[in-house]
Amino acid sequence: MQLVTVGTYDNLIEAELAKLQLESACIDAVLKDAEMVHLMPIYNLTIGGIKLLVRQVDEQKATTILENLETTSEITCPYCDSTQIYINYKSTKSKKGRLAVFLSFLTSTYPPLHYDVVHKCKDCGELFKPDEAR
Ligand SMILES: [Zn+2]
Repeated sequence: MQLVTVGTYDNLIEAELAKLQLESACIDAVLKDAEMVHLMPIYNLTIGGIKLLVRQVDEQKATTILENLETTSEITCPYCDSTQIYINYKSTKSKKGRLAVFLSFLTSTYPPLHYDVVHKCKDCGELFKPDEAR
């Protein structure tokens, strides 16, 4: 039985989600190097990330499912039209957030007492409120 790589991932959560999507379509899938990348993220570049493997006979079906996964993001960055978005990003960049970080530092508490929940674009790095998204 020949296994082929249908995806590579930087983190375990994305890899597990992709694997679950394939398994829900009755495609057996395994992750390779998941423990190594999860425990020692610094080796991620060296070993090429977490690989998602399926049987060669399932390759076409798996690829189609994974492509559909990547294009289902409904949220678009209002600044650069990217669909690569961190959803519900916790930002402390507002005045109130910075004050909360300062007070947290003084009182040694974590997480900060106040933060804004926003979306963050992975491409341009801009923060925007959910109602600003296109
Ligand atoms: Zn952007």
